[in-house]
Amino acid sequence: MSLSEGSAADWLARSRERLARTELSPEAVSIGRVEQIADGIARISGLPDVRLNELLHFEGGGSGFALALDADAVSAVLLDDQTAIEAGTRVSGTGQEVRVPVGPGLLGRVIDPLGRPLDRDEPVGVEAYHSVERQAPAIIERDLVSEPVETGILVIDALFTLGRGQRELIIGDRATGKTSIAVDAIINQKHSDIISVYVAVGQRATAVERVIEAVRQHGAPERCIFVVASAAAAPGLQWIAPFAGFTIAEYFRDRGGHALIVVDDLTKHAATHRELALLTREPPGREAYPGDIFYVHARLLERAAKLSAEHGGGSLTALPIAETDAGNLSAYIPTNLISITDGQIVLDSRLFAANQRPAVDVGLSVSRVGGKAQYPALRQVSGRIRLDYSQFLELEMFTRFGGISDTRIKAEIARGERIRALLMQPRFATLSLVDQVSLLAALGDGVLDGMPPARIPELRERVAAQLDTYAPGAAQALAGADALDGTLRARLVTAVGSLAKDIAGPAEARP
Ligand code: ATP
Ligand code: MG
Repeated sequence: MSLSEGSAADWLARSRERLARTELSPEAVSIGRVEQIADGIARISGLPDVRLNELLHFEGGGSGFALALDADAVSAVLLDDQTAIEAGTRVSGTGQEVRVPVGPGLLGRVIDPLGRPLDRDEPVGVEAYHSVERQAPAIIERDLVSEPVETGILVIDALFTLGRGQRELIIGDRATGKTSIAVDAIINQKHSDIISVYVAVGQRATAVERVIEAVRQHGAPERCIFVVASAAAAPGLQWIAPFAGFTIAEYFRDRGGHALIVVDDLTKHAATHRELALLTREPPGREAYPGDIFYVHARLLERAAKLSAEHGGGSLTALPIAETDAGNLSAYIPTNLISITDGQIVLDSRLFAANQRPAVDVGLSVSRVGGKAQYPALRQVSGRIRLDYSQFLELEMFTRFGGISDTRIKAEIARGERIRALLMQPRFATLSLVDQVSLLAALGDGVLDGMPPARIPELRERVAAQLDTYAPGAAQALAGADALDGTLRARLVTAVGSLAKDIAGPAEARP
């Protein structure tokens, strides 16, 4: 069918008439025909007023959305693996963009990017359907990022604080612990009012299962939503997943709540976008990505925001993940994402291989807005750590071959080794604010200097488990305080000191 059969108005009237006789959706405004179908992309003729991203229905079931509009045809991405669709299948536009269910009924559920349940047969509770493409809040509707998101990971909370409403990229080579950081951050929200949304794009199904299992075991799964488009899902579903996840998270932001979204990962999303673009014959640009890939990710991440009090004061914090190849941060997608976000946590494969977990590269990581959101008490005790640690890393390099006699340098190196040991943290062992403040204050006061670095992990565990018995009420006192006063600080340091002695005790007793 083509426009030459008559004027557009006639044509429309005819298709409406015909529509009434078909099984296709009644609100459809026009009917087209599949001309060609391959690799999850359908070329459709006869949909003159279809809009970009409009949801299309195929006769006999199945849906897709319009990705590229040409003068005489529309390229649509299928949202499922549909074998029933072939050349000649009829298609109707719906006048709507792709929508997902939103609302509290999604909490605790595992869904695909269209809101269909993947965990059990029971459908999700739906409050409303919202478009996956939504406008980011305007600047006037936003507020400064001023409250922290606690990840429970010492190196991040102390050195690269995340603020509510911030976008922080987690970037590193394959298997350097990117997902683990994000999962720990989600798990730590069991102590907060933040709702977590984990979006899996192009991940192996087993990897996604591990994430869900970890949150179920260690976190508060009833306050998490998992949006999954694994590597086996149709490319259309993978493309839409991050947008759907943001729409689902925005529901909470827009009602004055707080949400955290993890997108694992945008490198795979970019690859899907490139694949779809090449199939719809968009001209390839740098590294064969189409020119609009920057815009796609920028408009996605722009939706993370801290809203002003007049707009409810809600927030949406984004932790997108990106993969690098041999640590190359200057490749196209990494540079794009670094410039779109408000900072990055860089994971280094050499540190990972050297057993530094999390393998955060302190020199390359940065949080551009979160510093102001850090709890004052934590800021007080972590102030010097970054500098001390960077100095130590340099000194360590210069003095690798030994022969240091300067006692000041020896002390600096000893301190640095203890900082490094303290910043190591296994998975699922998140630390609360008071644990973090106590450990850092004790480090600053030299309490750990006499302790072999190898025993510091044990101290960290003991502090997490027993600080409350050694300094009862300290957590509440700290939570209510604007800053860390001298008495409280002294109590915390003494408590860590006693724990340190307990650990050292048996070792000292040995002859
Ligand atoms: P991929 O590139 O495959 O997505 P990734 O960068 O997301 O990998 P993870 O899957 O999070 O990396 O972690 C890789 C491995 O490192 C896992 O086996 C995980 O258990 C281990 N690991 C990550 N962080 C830590 C940690 N803090 N302590 C101990 N082990 C860790
Ligand atoms: Mg991963």
